[in-house]
Amino acid sequence: KKVEPEKDEYVIASDSAFAPFEFQNEENEYIGIDVDLMKRAAEMQGFNVTFNHIGFSGAVQAVEGDQADGMIAGMSITDEREETFDFSDPYFESGIQLAVEEGNDDDITSYEDLEGKTVGAKVGTESADFLDENEDEYGFNVKLYDDADQLYEAVRVDAIDALMDDYPVIGYSMAQGQELETPIERESGGEYGFAVKKGESPELLEMFNEALQEMQRTGEYDQIISTYIDDSG
Ligand code: GLN
Repeated sequence: KKVEPEKDEYVIASDSAFAPFEFQNEENEYIGIDVDLMKRAAEMQGFNVTFNHIGFSGAVQAVEGDQADGMIAGMSITDEREETFDFSDPYFESGIQLAVEEGNDDDITSYEDLEGKTVGAKVGTESADFLDENEDEYGFNVKLYDDADQLYEAVRVDAIDALMDDYPVIGYSMAQGQELETPIERESGGEYGFAVKKGESPELLEMFNEALQEMQRTGEYDQIISTYIDDSG
């Protein structure tokens, strides 16, 4: 079904570095699952998008402050966010996980082992919420970073003992050669959705949902996923 856009152009906010969902290639162009899904949806439904890759919490604020019409940023659909956002149909099943530098998994094999240690996450994320909720119980310290580059670098240089992030993003960074291990089973959860400000731009959500359904029907969705995530391992 074809839905009529109500704007000449929709501004879509996104994360600045969240591979394989949005990241810069060697030509400094943004590519990734979120980018491809949204661009294809725009082509299929005949609407125009401009991406604004301002970081995760920046994107949340941009939509809330009417500086963007929507956001696609590996954003987990949560009850709390549903109070201020309307979400599309879920398009990816995710979950959060703890990662430590390779070799550190001898000391850290459970959350209990994090006592007195410092764990990092990105500000405003599910992982940050999880750490805040559990820091007293397990006695670790939480350090929040604005973007993934800083977070992953902090583990590399031992500024923090562990990080918490969405498992496909940890997996991608391991596939790219960062020496990480994931000693604790991941927390189930987080389905990703495209989001608009609550009550606004229903046509934009509908266009995305229509296109997503069509991409899932034709196999194009699977193709986009397998471009970025190697399922063979
Ligand atoms: N899925 C996580 C969340 O929604 C992280 C998203 C991100 O860092 N881009 O909080």
